[in-house]
Amino acid sequence: MLGIEHPIIQGGMQWVGLAELASAVSNAGGLGILTGLTQPTPEDLQKEIARCREMTDKPFAVNLTILPTIKPVPYEEYAQAIVDSGVMIVETAGRNPEPFLPLFKAAGIKVIHKCTSIRHSLKAERIGCDMVSVDGFECAGHPGEDDVTNMILLPLAARRLNIPFLASGGLGDGRGLAAALAMGADGINMGTRFMATREAPIHDKVKQKMVEASELDTALIYRTLNNTARVFKNSIAEKVLEIEAQEGPTRFEDIRPLVQGTKGRELFDDGNLDKGIWSAGMIVGLIDDIPSCEELITRIVAEAEEIISQRLGQMLSA
Ligand code: NAD
Repeated sequence: MLGIEHPIIQGGMQWVGLAELASAVSNAGGLGILTGLTQPTPEDLQKEIARCREMTDKPFAVNLTILPTIKPVPYEEYAQAIVDSGVMIVETAGRNPEPFLPLFKAAGIKVIHKCTSIRHSLKAERIGCDMVSVDGFECAGHPGEDDVTNMILLPLAARRLNIPFLASGGLGDGRGLAAALAMGADGINMGTRFMATREAPIHDKVKQKMVEASELDTALIYRTLNNTARVFKNSIAEKVLEIEAQEGPTRFEDIRPLVQGTKGRELFDDGNLDKGIWSAGMIVGLIDDIPSCEELITRIVAEAEEIISQRLGQMLSA
């Protein structure tokens, strides 16, 4: 459906999904994704799409995330910019993408909607999405409020969905790929794992920190605001948690100076790890190197093939 060689998709990531990373993933046989809102205007997004096209002749997609933001976002204009630029695959996330579907479908675009629950996945299928990305509780960024892991979500998706689906959250190696395929997924979506690659456009200190981190180094913030996000557990995340733990309802205004996305962008640029917030999934506990996207994808596919043909194959023949 997506015209790619390997069933590995690089999910949208704020400030990280630039042409350097998306083209590297697509050139390696996966599907790279540009993050729409990382570009300050719809015109800038069109320029970034053109830049990516110069860097790869393989398919790539654009992510459009619809969640609370500090600055209002002209979503319709971003959606139109995607259509006008001729991109054929869109990853939507955050909210029901129904208002945008007529526009995307009329242009023949394949829509992959990222969902953190089965009820949202079924809804996405019903309204005409082509594929869903089932995002388990392990994931980076916004896992929703149900806290169900992929061990449950993926088999449920396999039982109930008729459209293809990707496993997202907690994926980063060949074992994960083989397990996701066994549980019924048609491929995997990786975000955090692709941040620790040579082509990811972020400071080396961030990548090194993820290599050193364990599975215990993420935190869930904005729980009290019903907008939970899994982020790297740095001193800023801890300060946010302290404010959220105070008595009475949390006011976003009280945490806003700590969490604004622009600080996270500066952190990625200058490597000051306590400048702001950055999204990271539990998979940091399984990341121990910084390969190129090509090395990473080739290795994951080879590992999965070996597990399926050797380890699992031998269990059957024994
Ligand atoms: P931003 O600077 O606008 O806001 C920073 C964070 O605060 C975001 O997580 C946002 O959701 C949250 N937020 C903003 N206003 C809020 C409110 N009134 N109540 C509760 N939470 C509020 O965000 P940004 O870093 O420029 O990112 C742009 C968009 O991309 C946001 O919607 C953000 O959530 C989303 N994003 C998604 C992921 C993901 O996991 N898919 C990762 C990073 C960012």
